[in-house]
Amino acid sequence: MQATPTSKLLDWYDAHRRALPWRALPGAVANPYHVWLSEIMLQQTTVATVIGYFEKFIDIWPTVHDLAAAEDDAVMTAWAGLGYYARARNLLKCARLIVDQHAGHFPDTEDALRALPGVGPYTAAAIAAIAFNQPAAPVDGNIERVLSRLAADTTPLPKLKARIKAYNASLVPAERPGDFAQAMMDLGSSLCTPKRPACGDCPWQADCAAHASGVAETLPRKAPKREKPERRGTVYWLENKAGDVWMARRPEKGLLGGMYMFPSQGWDPANDAPLDTLAPGTWTPLSGEVVHVFTHFRLTLTVEAHTWPHDDPPPIEGRWVAPHDFANVALPSVMVKVAKHVLS
Ligand code: SF4
Repeated sequence: MQATPTSKLLDWYDAHRRALPWRALPGAVANPYHVWLSEIMLQQTTVATVIGYFEKFIDIWPTVHDLAAAEDDAVMTAWAGLGYYARARNLLKCARLIVDQHAGHFPDTEDALRALPGVGPYTAAAIAAIAFNQPAAPVDGNIERVLSRLAADTTPLPKLKARIKAYNASLVPAERPGDFAQAMMDLGSSLCTPKRPACGDCPWQADCAAHASGVAETLPRKAPKREKPERRGTVYWLENKAGDVWMARRPEKGLLGGMYMFPSQGWDPANDAPLDTLAPGTWTPLSGEVVHVFTHFRLTLTVEAHTWPHDDPPPIEGRWVAPHDFANVALPSVMVKVAKHVLS
């Protein structure tokens, strides 16, 4: 039988598949809890970063039942550093729903998976294909890149997405759809990289229209980017006489929901802390700035410091935390940067 792009890719995968801690061994059945957990972590985070977090979570919470029974704070703390904290909140919500409403079993269809908290179209397709061998065709940025090159499709993103989705669906084999999805992911991350794709080692070298015409590196085309808006704010570093620092917990909903932060003002009006009114004229501006880039804006923070002279805590909600305990608090990356800036 003549080799097709699909069969060539599967042969290449059998010889070169990446060993990843959430991946089943060849011929073995995948663990849906592992697949789901890894796919949620991999949303907006690289494989290299996710490996350590995945192993930590599986170590602490080996089953979905264990995770469902976890304390919210323990999960948020274990997640700290992965970013996009709504994912951690949805992770817990989803684990509890799987235990309460599905007797601890993940549903096996794309549609039912999409109804779960934190599971969008890509994640649902990836779990359906990898965990349940359903003929689903997940499409992410890597797969858009690989397939836009295979077809030399110069349609710019985001218009390209619908075309790639249909193209991908046409390639998915009736047997081994899970391996096909993982093979596409591996090809995109190891050979068909954004810069300098390794076409000489690629199983699709003879089929790839972009390689044949020498335009691979220019694909996929993108619509011109808009600049991110700028925001500025002030962080209040309030210490007590023992050197502990005041932290407030943000509301569950909204940006960085449920995370601990040093009180701040000016950049997120819903969470402004009126700390500057507590001791007017006594805050000392520290030199330098902290810059953090969120998905939708770029934030520049200055820091003002003050030592709280009273034994009673300040009249705003929060708690004192010693700097050596910062690592045990669910502190978002932007506030880890602030702490480093102040303490360095
Ligand atoms: Fe990508 Fe090159 Fe393979 Fe084409 S031949 S799919 S450009 S690595």
